[in-house]
Amino acid sequence: MNAFKGKRILIVEDSRFQAQITANILNKYGYMTEIALTGEEAVEKVSGSRCPDLILMDIELGKGMDGVLAARTIQQFRDVPVVFLTAHTEKEIVEKIRTITGYGYVLKGAGEHVLVSTVEMALHLYEANAHANMYRQIFENSLNEIYIFHPATLKFIAVNRGARKNLGYTIEELSTMTPLDLEPELDPESFRALLEPLVGGMQEQLLFNTVHRRKDGSLYPAEIHLQLFGHSGEKVCVALIIDLTERRKMEEELRAREATLSAIMGSAREAIVMLDGQGNVTFWNPAGEQLFGYSREEILGKDLHRLVVPDESFYQTYQEAFKHFQLTGEGNVIGKTIELKAKHKDGRELDVKLSLSALRIRDAWHAVGIVRDISERKRFEKTLRNKERQLRLMLEGIPSPAWLINRERRILAQNKAAEMVGTKVGNYCWGSLHGTKSHPDECREAIEKSGTPLPGTKCYFCRGDEALDKNEPINSEVEFAGGIWDTWWIPLGEDTFLHYAADVTRYKKLEEELRRLSVTDALTGAYNRRYFEQVLEQENERARRTGSPFSLIMLDLDHFKSINDRFGHAAGDLVLKSLVDLINGRIRKIDCLARWGGEEFVILLPNTPVDKAAGLAEELRGQLSSMNIPGVGSVTASFGVAGYCPSDTADTLIMRADNMLYEAKSSGRNCVQHTGKCL
Ligand code: GH3
Ligand code: MG
Ligand code: MG
Repeated sequence: MNAFKGKRILIVEDSRFQAQITANILNKYGYMTEIALTGEEAVEKVSGSRCPDLILMDIELGKGMDGVLAARTIQQFRDVPVVFLTAHTEKEIVEKIRTITGYGYVLKGAGEHVLVSTVEMALHLYEANAHANMYRQIFENSLNEIYIFHPATLKFIAVNRGARKNLGYTIEELSTMTPLDLEPELDPESFRALLEPLVGGMQEQLLFNTVHRRKDGSLYPAEIHLQLFGHSGEKVCVALIIDLTERRKMEEELRAREATLSAIMGSAREAIVMLDGQGNVTFWNPAGEQLFGYSREEILGKDLHRLVVPDESFYQTYQEAFKHFQLTGEGNVIGKTIELKAKHKDGRELDVKLSLSALRIRDAWHAVGIVRDISERKRFEKTLRNKERQLRLMLEGIPSPAWLINRERRILAQNKAAEMVGTKVGNYCWGSLHGTKSHPDECREAIEKSGTPLPGTKCYFCRGDEALDKNEPINSEVEFAGGIWDTWWIPLGEDTFLHYAADVTRYKKLEEELRRLSVTDALTGAYNRRYFEQVLEQENERARRTGSPFSLIMLDLDHFKSINDRFGHAAGDLVLKSLVDLINGRIRKIDCLARWGGEEFVILLPNTPVDKAAGLAEELRGQLSSMNIPGVGSVTASFGVAGYCPSDTADTLIMRADNMLYEAKSSGRNCVQHTGKCL
C-alpha cells in the first residue's frame, strides 16, 4: 500500500511521450500527475495556487530554461522536493544536482521500481526534514533559554535564540564555550559532580538554581532543568534555563508588601484574625494578643471558637455556621459588622465588635475577622442609661413642668407636667411655650422674616448658658406673661441643663402685702413708727456720709380729743385718714410719712434744708386748716420742724422736732415752729 497515494507529482519533461510514460507509471502507483513541457511552464505551475508535492525534473529541456535553472528558480519561492531525471551520469552533472537538491536523481530508463522507490524515498525524506525543521523552529524560537551541550566535553552543541539574546553571545562564540563559562559559581569538578546523578542514570532530571553571567558581565539568577537525551547514538545534555530575575523581583515585591501589611497589622488597634477552613487560627496580630490575652504561639493553629466563645451553646452554633461557610464561603455575618460577647483568656467576658469577610485561598475558604473591644463603650452606655433613668425620675419628681435642655435650646427630655403644657422633645424649648414673644428683638425679627431662628436664639431672661459656664445652679424670679416665676437653670454636664419654673405670682403678691402690712399703719396707710425709725437711721447714716441735709416735720392734731368726743371715734378716724391723704398727695416719693403714735405724725424729707421743710410744713398747715372733712368740718394741727445736724443721732433729731412741736402747741396751736440750730 502506498502511503503517499494521492500526492501530486509534476513531471517536467520536454518529450511529451516520455512524460506520459512516466505519468502512467506513477498513476499506476496511486500518484496524481501533471506535466510541464518547459522549465518556464514548470515555474509557472509551481507558483500557481496548487503546488505539487514533488517535482520530477528532466535536466535537458530543449530550448529555454534547463532543469537545473528551473529547480533553482522554484526553490527560491517554494519548498518542494525535486528529484532529477537524467540520462547522464557524468561527474559534473551529478555534482551539479547535489548542489540543488538533497532528494537524489533517477536515471532515465532505470525502470519502474527505481523510479517509484526514488519518488517514495524523496517524499519520506521531505517529511522527515519538515519535522526536524519544526523541532528546530520550536527549539530556536522558544521563549525559554535552552542549551544543548555534550556531557563529557561540556561543549555547547546548540544554544537557542532566547538564550543567545539574554547572554549576548553569538552562535560562533558559543560554539567554543561550555556552560562553565556562564557559571561564575561553578568549577569543572563541581559541575561534573553535579551532572553525575544524571550521567550515571540515577536521576532523570536535575533541577537547581544558580547564577549566570552574560557576555557584558552582568549576572542573573537562573533556575536550571537538566535532562539527558539520545542524539545520533550518544547522550546530550539539554538544559532549560528560566531567568529568575522577574520572579525574584516579584518575590521581593511580595516580601515588601508582606512587610508593609505586617507593619499595618502590627500597629492596628483592632485584633486581626484569620481562620482557615477548619476554623483554626492562621493569623494573629499584637492587638489580638492584647484583646484576648493569647499570644501568637498559644493560639496559632488552634480552634479559635473553642477558646473565645463564652457559651457552649453558642459554640455549637458557630461550629455549624462555620461548616456552612467552609463549603460555600457564605454566612449570615460574612461582610457584616456585628456585636457579640467573647471570652478573654483569664475568663473575663468581653463585648466585641466583629467585622467578618471571606477569602478564598488555594481552594479553601478562609475567614478574616477584625475585632474591636467595645466593653468600655458598653459600660459607658450602661452608666449613661442609668444616669438617664435617674434624670427621668428626677424630672418626674419636680412638681412643675421641667425640661432637660442643651445649649442649642433643644428639649432632650421632659416630665409629664411639661407634656401637659404642650412642649415636645426635640423642639426648641422656647417654641411651644412662648413662641417668639420672649425673644430679643433681633431674634424675633429673624424668625418672622425667614422662618428660621438665628443661631443661639433664646428667651431674653434665659440664664442656661450662664449656669453651664459657671457650672452652678442659677435661680431667679422672672416676670413674664403677667406672672412671676421662680425659675431654675441647673447644669448637668457640659451641654445639658435642667430647667423648670414655678408660678409664684400668688405668693409674691402675698409676700408683698405682708411686707407692706409690716411697715404701714393699718388705719391710715402711712408707714408705722418701727419702719420710720429704720428709714431715719439710714438717712442719718447717709447724711453723715454725704453731708446732704435732711429735715423732719412732726405734727399733732389740735384738740383731737374733743373731735372724738364731739363727732365720734369714726369721725376721728376719718380725720386721721384725710390728713394722711393730704400729706401723701403733697410730698415727694422719696419723702416718708409715718404715724408716730395716736394723732401725731412725722415726715422725713431727704435732701431738704430746714427752712424748705418749714415752708412745706406751713403749706400743709394751711391746706389742712382749709380742708372740709365731711361730718367734722375743718381741723388744724401744730407743726415742729428740725434740720439734721452733723452731731445728730436719730433720737436727738426727733427730740428737737418734738421740742418745736411743743413750742407750736404752746404758742397757740395751728402754727409751725422750726429750728435750724444744732445742739
Ligand atoms: P392737744 O391739742 O393738746 O394735742 O390736745 P388733744 O386733745 O389733741 O391731745 P390729747 O393727747 O389730749 O388727746 C389725744 C386724743 O386722740 C386721745 C385719743 O383718744 C385720741 N386718739 C388717739 N388715737 C386715736 C385714733 O386712732 N382714733 C381716734 N378717733 N382717736 C384717737
Ligand atoms: Mg393732739
Ligand atoms: Mg397728741
